[in-house]
Amino acid sequence: MENEVDNLLYKPKNGYGKLSAAELAEMDAYCLRYRHFIDEAKTEREAVKQTVAMAQAHGFTMYSSEMKLKPGDRVYQVNRGKGVVFAVIGEKSLSEGCRIAVAHADSPRLDVKPNPLCEMEQFGLIKTHYYGGIKKYQWTAVPLALHGVICKKDGSVQTVCIGEQEGDPVFCVTDLLIHLSKDQLGKTMREGVTGENLKVLFGSRPLDGDEKEKSIKLALLHILHQLFGIEEEDFLSAELTLVPAWRSRDLGLDRSMIAAYGHDDRICAYAEFEPLLELEKPAYTAVCLIADKEEIGSIGVSGMQSRFFDDFMADLCESGGGHLRRCMRNSLCMSADVVNALDPVYSDVSDGQNCARFNYGVAVAKYTGSGGKGGCSDASAEIVARFRHIFDQGGVLWQSAELGKVDQGGGGTVAGYMANRNIDTLDVGVGLLSMHSPLEIAAKLDCYMMRRAADAFYRYG
Ligand code: MN
Ligand code: MN
Repeated sequence: MENEVDNLLYKPKNGYGKLSAAELAEMDAYCLRYRHFIDEAKTEREAVKQTVAMAQAHGFTMYSSEMKLKPGDRVYQVNRGKGVVFAVIGEKSLSEGCRIAVAHADSPRLDVKPNPLCEMEQFGLIKTHYYGGIKKYQWTAVPLALHGVICKKDGSVQTVCIGEQEGDPVFCVTDLLIHLSKDQLGKTMREGVTGENLKVLFGSRPLDGDEKEKSIKLALLHILHQLFGIEEEDFLSAELTLVPAWRSRDLGLDRSMIAAYGHDDRICAYAEFEPLLELEKPAYTAVCLIADKEEIGSIGVSGMQSRFFDDFMADLCESGGGHLRRCMRNSLCMSADVVNALDPVYSDVSDGQNCARFNYGVAVAKYTGSGGKGGCSDASAEIVARFRHIFDQGGVLWQSAELGKVDQGGGGTVAGYMANRNIDTLDVGVGLLSMHSPLEIAAKLDCYMMRRAADAFYRYG
């Protein structure tokens, strides 16, 4: 009797102890592959390049709308180099719906301003405008690498990546020494480092020559010209960004965690992408969409609000002999994005009974939003129940998660934009510590379970 009553309780548990030795080995192997991916893909453009190269090696071909598609076909379409969608055509008609997994590959960072180069007190500096939500003080005194593209008027594109290779120079935003920080330390953390203060140290050595030519800025432009054949005006049509220069590392004496820049949201994007490589002929067509611009509202041609996705689905239905509106309303979407995990030092912002915890598996968020669920897609009870069943079938360890205590703050994901398209959608993701900082932390067990969740979604969803 006592046991029967005990079984009525919902008792989420730490996932260690539930995995076999083989599963633990699989977890470590997957986490290594994931680490390799994020070390090579620190921007959305790089994430697209990496995933497309892997997909091509696994039989995916570039989609064009004239194609006729049949079950088992594997296609992808790139959106302006910054977003990408992959599809494996299923046995059932497209009119019966797809299993659509979405995530984003953009992360908070320091974007270079259109006219960035300046000289102050005989230093060359790069002016930046931060991208996404950051605590600005966290981005000072951190080694930064320069990534991006410079597009010239003649149509040529120069790819830039400085600071990632051993021996490359790095860049950084300076911070004031503690000895002279009396005024700065009296300010709020919001005001202590301003957006305009996020200027990146770029050089200090003047050109040789007479006094008036000893310009640091000119010397730097000279180097840029040698490296990329560009003039200062070419910055106007460039997309350059500064990201932490370090690579991912195992974290903890037990190596149970991964520290890296940009887990948000490549930890979900990669988890949703990788299972597609081995998916042969699913019952329902599997679609994996990696979007851009989530961190700034999903607006724009490469964001989740773009018609790119609708156009792709319409074309896909034409190519595969399906009916678009029926396809959309019969589809199921797993919107995967990171959530906050309970931080032992800041546990007061979370409701311990409703927050994600490290090593408890994939986090399912029925809703996100802020101030009374504002701006979120609140998944229906029916859909949450469907996912409970899918995860049971796939042996997925999962937990329910809410983004912090009520009225503590909050945030949104792309789930709402999918749901607005008449597609049932659920937020699923990986709990992080230090989210949006230059060094985000994830638990390996949760990272691995995200991949299993995506695999189960394609197979049993
Ligand atoms: Mn995110
Ligand atoms: Mn984010």
